This record gives sequence, C-alpha cells and structure tokens, in this order.
Amino acid sequence: MANCLFCEIIAKKIPAKIIYEDEDIIAFNDINPKAEVHFLIIPKIHIESMLALEEKHQTLIGKIMLQANTLATNQGLSGYKVLINTGISGGQEVFHLHIHVIGNK
Ligand code: 5GP
Ligand code: ZN
Repeated sequence: MANCLFCEIIAKKIPAKIIYEDEDIIAFNDINPKAEVHFLIIPKIHIESMLALEEKHQTLIGKIMLQANTLATNQGLSGYKVLINTGISGGQEVFHLHIHVIGNK
C-alpha cells in the first residue's frame, strides 16, 4: 500500500533489521526498543489494524502468534510481553497491523 511505512519495509525500500521472513509474514527489530529484545511481526498483506480483521485472516494471525513465540524463545527470552496497539485511541501509530514482542533476558 502506498505511503505505508511497514509496506515499504516489506518491499525493502526502507531498511530494517529483519529477523524472520516467509511468504506471509516478516519480523524486524523495533527502531526504538523498549527492552533488550523488542521486535515487531507483521503480515505482508496490508491490514490496517485489529479493527480490520476478518474471518479469512484467522490462519495468518495464528501463524504470527506462533512465530512470535518461536522468535522470542530463539532470542533467549523465557518470558515476554505481546502488545497490539489498536486504533488511534489504542495508541496505534503505524496503521499496518503489527504485534510487538518485548522482553528482557
Ligand atoms: P505502534 O504505536 O503503532 O504500536 O508502534 C509502532 C512502532 O513502530 C513503534 O514502537 C516504533 O518505534 C516502530 N517504528 C516506527 N518507525 C519505524 C521504522 O522506520 N523502523 C522500525 N524498525 N520500527 C519503526
Ligand atoms: Zn502496509
């Protein structure tokens, strides 16, 4: 989608420290980490936020959650926080659905 920061990261037009990528999702370190480990996982298709989720996205969201756990564990976390800011009143700043994974080792 035009003018979407995270779509530009997916397209490699904006650099990011990518830690995982497959045909459906991509994960990269947050530019302003709130803990030792802080990465974002996003779908490659442009979904604005949780508010735009539909039944057809069920498998994709499941895949994101499973990968969140795998990546967090691989990065040495024994526990972590998952955060999904949703909508302007939910504190969302980038309107391409993303899951924050945040933790300290
Ligand atoms: P939100 O408040 O929308 O849930 O969080 C957006 C997140 O994206 C913030 O944690 C912010 O630090 C991160 N972010 C914003 N711009 C960039 C960028 O250009 N690259 C990366 N890697 N992260 C970004
Ligand atoms: Zn996008």
